[in-house]
Parts: sequence; structure tokens; C-alpha cells
Amino acid sequence: MDRILIATRNAHKLEEIRGLLPGPELIGTDRWPEVPDPVEDGETFEANAVLKAEAWARATGLPALADDSGLAVDALGGAPGIHSARYAGAHGDTAANNARLLRELGGVPPERRTARFVCVLALAVPGQPTRTVRGECRGRIVDALRGTGGFGYDPLFIPDGETQTFGELPAETKARLSHRARAFAEARRQWFSGESRP
Ligand code: IMP
Repeated sequence: MDRILIATRNAHKLEEIRGLLPGPELIGTDRWPEVPDPVEDGETFEANAVLKAEAWARATGLPALADDSGLAVDALGGAPGIHSARYAGAHGDTAANNARLLRELGGVPPERRTARFVCVLALAVPGQPTRTVRGECRGRIVDALRGTGGFGYDPLFIPDGETQTFGELPAETKARLSHRARAFAEARRQWFSGESRP
């Protein structure tokens, strides 16, 4: 499998994924502007990742790798979870999503602000059963935005073992610790090494 389509329209994710999956040629979705984005109506990260990977594999005939990810906050019963991208309404409105998260956690003390980022990867290869792997990164939510690195909820999340948010930490640190890094480590092990290579 030398060429893999990365099934996302999120340029930040594509960039991170390029650093996490050296080897195969990774193709973005921008050369298929006419392909509609699949409706992410699954009830789990796994269901949504599978739905995206299979839709793109069908549309292009290429092996497609999709990432479905989000933030699960313990004090909010796992919210925003699969709704992370549209927590405040409009899809991908990061400022509004972060503002809502801070509002929902207003008054919650530091020790109860635990959370985890979750990333599920699905690999859909035409003619083969679709596979998934999951990675998680535990941490806590701070009470104001810190740093400008990363994307999404990064300026509000301190990974366990660190004192700075993913917005403040160097990209290399996020590339080592993140939910996406962990999911890709598993994907490389299961799908892209030696004998088990699809
Ligand atoms: P998806 O594109 O449907 O997987 O939505 C993922 C959403 O979860 C993003 O829009 C962000 O709000 C959030 N998210 C996922 N991964 C990260 C991350 O690495 N940092 C910050 N936010 C993330």
C-alpha cells in the first residue's frame, strides 16, 4: 500500500498525520472537491471513522484512512465527545467551542477538570474488511486559553505529566503524546509493518 488517501478536509489534521505516518505517499482530499463530505451520523468515534474511510475509499477507489477524534470531559459526562467539532453549533467554530467548554466548566475545581482526547483511525481498503485502532491522551482542562499552537481545544488541554497546554508545548511534544500519535503508533504496528502490511 504505497498511496493512501487521508480522508479529512481538515488541513491541520493532514499535517499532523504526515508527521505520524512516514513511508506511504499520503494524498489529501483537495483533488476531489466534488466529493461530498459524508454525514457523520454515527454514535461512536469508531462508527464515524469507519463511515468516513469507507465513503472516501468508495469515491476514489484508493485505500482511505480516516481519523475521528474529539475531547471527552469527565465532569460533563464525556461531552463534547463525538460532537467536539460542532459543540457550539457551527462545525469547526473553534473560538465558540472553546468558549462553550469554559462556560460549561465554570466553577468546576481543578481536580475535577479531568478529560481525555480520543482518536480512532479507520483504514478502508477496497475489497477488504475495514479495520480500526484507538488512541487516548489523558489530561485536564485549564480555565483560560493558553498558547497558540495546535488546533481546536489544544489551548485548553494539559496532557498528564506536563504543565503546559498543547497550545503552548512544541509540536514535537504533541506528536509524541497525543491521542493521534498513540493511535498511529498502533496503526503502524498493526497495519504498516512487515508481514501484517495490507
Ligand atoms: P472530527 O473532525 O469530526 O474528528 O472532529 C474532531 C474535533 O475534535 C475537532 O474539530 C476538534 O474540535 C477536536 N479535536 C480533535 N483532535 C484534536 C486535537 O488534537 N487537538 C484539539 N482538538 C482536537
